[in-house]
Amino acid sequence: MQTAIIGAGAMGCLFGAMLAGAAPVVLVDPWQEHVAAINAKGLTVEGLDGRQRVHRLPVFNDPAAIEQPVDLAIIFTKSYRTEAAAGDANRILKPDGLVLTLQNGIGNLETIARVVGPQRAVAGVTAHGGTLLGPGRVRHAGVGPTHIARPATAAQAVDRICRFFVRAGIDTTAEENLDRLIWGKLVINVGINALAAILRVTNGAIGDTPACEPLVAGAVAEAVAVAHALGIRLPYKDPLQRVKAVCQATAANRASMLQDILRGARTEIGVINRAIVERGATLSIATPSNRLLAEIVEALEATAAHRVG
Ligand code: NAD
Repeated sequence: MQTAIIGAGAMGCLFGAMLAGAAPVVLVDPWQEHVAAINAKGLTVEGLDGRQRVHRLPVFNDPAAIEQPVDLAIIFTKSYRTEAAAGDANRILKPDGLVLTLQNGIGNLETIARVVGPQRAVAGVTAHGGTLLGPGRVRHAGVGPTHIARPATAAQAVDRICRFFVRAGIDTTAEENLDRLIWGKLVINVGINALAAILRVTNGAIGDTPACEPLVAGAVAEAVAVAHALGIRLPYKDPLQRVKAVCQATAANRASMLQDILRGARTEIGVINRAIVERGATLSIATPSNRLLAEIVEALEATAAHRVG
């Protein structure tokens, strides 16, 4: 299965390195220093065991350099680059090829479907985690199952992708009802990410600090109300307890939104807390906690150049 990964940051490199063990994989990323480093010295992946392995795989800044059309394009950009990435995928995809998003948040699938057509877009969710260490270097930060939606229009193609992923050592299953898993992850991110970025604390501090609880509880309750109004049943009974358990299990982690704010970069607030506000508005569900969190994170992004201290 000829595969291109559009967005070769932490996750794109990680999946690229794993999938290249089972089929030809090419990476695409506009970050020139990173692409030059991979071309010069290979892609170094620090495994969960701490060992470093170097992978040789083709990587390009410009997707136009890919000569052979691909069966599968996996989008691993941040969500605010999804539309551009989908445009690139569209140019290199075979007519019967599929574009897969394993990005966080909601709305990526709809964006991709608008560009490549709904029949050629599928979404999944992965519990793998990655951290970018520098140009040409990533760390495998966490492992867990991957699920890919199996729409009737692409059932066999999705089964082939699942088998391909499994051959590459990625525990993957096709899922008839992906929404509950996507929203299950979204509700956790709604409770942790924005608050971690605003307070500049690790996940553990959010779970352990009583003063954080009403803020987490408010945002989570609104997200759950929106999910229920959409007919989505979450994969756990007590969402607030689940958020606390995740905070405990990932106590030392810096949420990706915190990492983005610390380096003055744009965040994925638009597909997390802001997305809850937007979905809530269409369903007439009040979402004041998510609105406040989204507005503060957006103000943090907009004032990055003026930060004091
Ligand atoms: P990242 O910032 O490390 O990588 C994104 C890459 O996309 C960057 O290298 C950037 O140069 C590249 N890019 C930007 N515009 C592009 C374009 N038009 N075409 C091609 N490449 C482009 O981000 P990440 O941590 O790998 O996350 C990617 C997605 O996966 C996000 O939606 C994130 O929420 C999700 N995710 C991340 C993790 C994790 O542990 N890091 C886990 C699960 C899901």
